[in-house]
Amino acid sequence: MGHSWTGTEKMAFTNPGKVPITEFWIRLWGNGTAGCGGTPAERISALVGGQVAETRENCTAYRIVLDTALAPGARGEVSFTLSIDVPVQRDRFGINGVDTYLGNALAVLAVKDENGWELPPYVAFGESYYSLAADYDVTLDHPAALQVPSTGVVAGETAAGDRLVTHLTAARVRDFSWSAGAFHHDSTVTASGVTVDAYWPNSESDSNCRDLMRYAARALDYYSTRYGAYPYPRFTIVFDEFGAAFDGMEYPNYVLASAYQGAVAHEVAHQWWFGLVGDDQYRHPWLDEAFAEYSTEEFQGNATPVHNCDWIASDERMDVSMDVYEKAGDPFYHDAVYHEGTCMLYDLEHTIGRDGMDKLLRDLVSTYEYGVIRPGDVRTLAAAVSGKDLSAFWSRWRNTAA
Ligand SMILES: [Zn+2]
Repeated sequence: MGHSWTGTEKMAFTNPGKVPITEFWIRLWGNGTAGCGGTPAERISALVGGQVAETRENCTAYRIVLDTALAPGARGEVSFTLSIDVPVQRDRFGINGVDTYLGNALAVLAVKDENGWELPPYVAFGESYYSLAADYDVTLDHPAALQVPSTGVVAGETAAGDRLVTHLTAARVRDFSWSAGAFHHDSTVTASGVTVDAYWPNSESDSNCRDLMRYAARALDYYSTRYGAYPYPRFTIVFDEFGAAFDGMEYPNYVLASAYQGAVAHEVAHQWWFGLVGDDQYRHPWLDEAFAEYSTEEFQGNATPVHNCDWIASDERMDVSMDVYEKAGDPFYHDAVYHEGTCMLYDLEHTIGRDGMDKLLRDLVSTYEYGVIRPGDVRTLAAAVSGKDLSAFWSRWRNTAA
């Protein structure tokens, strides 16, 4: 149950540019692991408002040509049937034992920025996801025996025989993900009034998951105080084990985490670094991972980095894309982005002072929340809040590329 889903997805958007839009790209990330062969995990059909002109990147990217060009400032939409068959794989998009995880399963608009259309390939470790904030209105019709932890808040539930129709809404989020399973569930409310919903399968310890739920609530409060308030009414966390695939995975309002404190604190921190302050996770993975891991270590009370700050390779760099890290391997990626990234941010705090660091982090959130940062935005803001020329600092941390 919960392995196959089919329904209508409607995408509506406004042309923000100065020329008509005749075509655009969408991403179907569920095809990332198996690609186009056989029956793809995700298919679209019965397109209304346009037609599929081309697919790329193993059927994770679809070019859609609109039936009618969209004038500047005008609002248009397309809709299609989306069919999802979740593969058996212990992953963020996969059937993991008795539970089903639908990470990045809904189609999202690709981003066109100063580099043109950004159509990165899927990566098995780390993330390729890059999307803009949007409003989601999602109705999930599912067996009543299954719960559907997800992005957003439950706007309504309607029972229909052995099924339950759950209506969810989420404002200003980068994507919408959910899972389906006969989970255990508990909830709490943070000091600042955010509801924390926690879910876990039978295989996890009830008492540990309840402790971690309260730990997640404390992390939300800590980061809210330091960076700026978590602006959503609900945060949902699912505890489960994903083996070698990952220890945690971030989505807006909703995360997956292994049931230990480090994973929980890290994924909660992503609500600011990636969730609120977005980035191109394929081109600049350090922009969210280094900040999330630094946040974790600070929240856990460490005055200095937990990890060794020695680079593991002479040609290792922090400012390269997932393309480079995928060829170099997961340990290389992990060291450069998480460990050296955290060391770099502790060093930045040392260099510009605690007050300067607090101002930088708060300014990053207040300036770029619901938007996207580039590396240059961080460097410019760090120089502005400190009044220092930090170019030698960024060079020392092998982090100078735009
Ligand atoms: Zn992370």
